[in-house]
Amino acid sequence: MERAHLLRHETTFAIGGPAEYFTTVISEEDVRGALADAERLRHSHTLLAGASNVLIADEGVSGVVMCMRGGLLKTRGTNIHVQCGASLYEAIRETAADGLGGWERLSGIPGTVGGAIRGNAGAFGTEIGEVLLSVRALDRHTGHVREFKKDACAFSYRYSYFKKHPEWILLDAVFALRETDTKESTTIIEETVAEREKRHLQHVRAAGSFFVNPVAPSDVAIVFASEKHMEARAGRVPAGWLIEKVGMRGEREGGAASSQMHANYLVNDTGEATAADVWKLAQRIATKVKAQYAVELSPEVTVMGSLDAFPPLV
Ligand SMILES: Cc1cc2nc3c(=O)[nH]c(=O)nc-3n(C[C@H](O)[C@H](O)[C@H](O)COP(=O)(O)OP(=O)(O)OC[C@H]3O[C@@H](n4cnc5c(N)ncnc54)[C@H](O)[C@@H]3O)c2cc1C
Repeated sequence: MERAHLLRHETTFAIGGPAEYFTTVISEEDVRGALADAERLRHSHTLLAGASNVLIADEGVSGVVMCMRGGLLKTRGTNIHVQCGASLYEAIRETAADGLGGWERLSGIPGTVGGAIRGNAGAFGTEIGEVLLSVRALDRHTGHVREFKKDACAFSYRYSYFKKHPEWILLDAVFALRETDTKESTTIIEETVAEREKRHLQHVRAAGSFFVNPVAPSDVAIVFASEKHMEARAGRVPAGWLIEKVGMRGEREGGAASSQMHANYLVNDTGEATAADVWKLAQRIATKVKAQYAVELSPEVTVMGSLDAFPPLV
């Protein structure tokens, strides 16, 4: 295990202090080994994967940080078996090359297959939960392994059962794809990534959308619908729209800013922003949105490190 590994080198935010201990895990045995090491050292353990949806405290994370990696395991017919530490984008490209598709619109979402399942990652109307058949997971406290069928994952908007149950470490998953033409799949993949680049959703020092799109009171949803000429989906309005409405698009705090292109992306604009800068900015935004619209914003990103670094948003 490496000591004092700087986590800002791992995160897409390029923010985060040191992990007391840092180790890479791929297989179930690796995960069990890291958990046993943490127990032996009487330390806590934290799971990181693609680190594209986390805000890590400037003081770092105590105990053992496991960083999950992996790859494709095997294909049986149109079903693929993949390790949860595999890069989602690599998995989509590799399966397309083998003539399997159905999840191409998820291309370009950073991070791993496991991180995507946990948050039911999605883009352009496709969510990863739609193609999942089952996922195997290990309970970090008991060592018990269980297979969760899709229904047991309770997928909804940016949500799965695993968000409320962080004891489960997702190990590997089976996806039901369909036969596709490699050329057609590749075109969809390329178009999707190009669209993301055009909308400045790629290659930014951020963690994607910072806040979950909140359920809004009906009067707020009506204003949204009349301004944007689209219905609020399931009563939710985009957090970015609320940030614009309270005049905080482009707002800055230290090295952090709300992106001019996409207000719900809080970015490490200077490359030198701290987690404290980002959190203060998030607090100012959430406070103003609550005061003006009576809507409570909550973070989509996971915060890691001492709770003192992340006092309540509002
Ligand atoms: C530029 C940019 C664009 C983005 N665009 C989108 C988008 O279009 N749509 C979207 O949905 N998201 C988007 N995101 C957010 C992010 O990429 C996704 O949420 C991604 O699925 C997170 O996966 P990860 O492997 O990076 O997870 P991490 O950030 O490493 O971890 C996030 C949380 O998941 C947990 N976790 C990770 N792996 C496992 C596992 N195997 N078992 C149990 N828990 C696990 C971690 O412990 C942590 O709590 C974007 C992010 C960036 C930086």
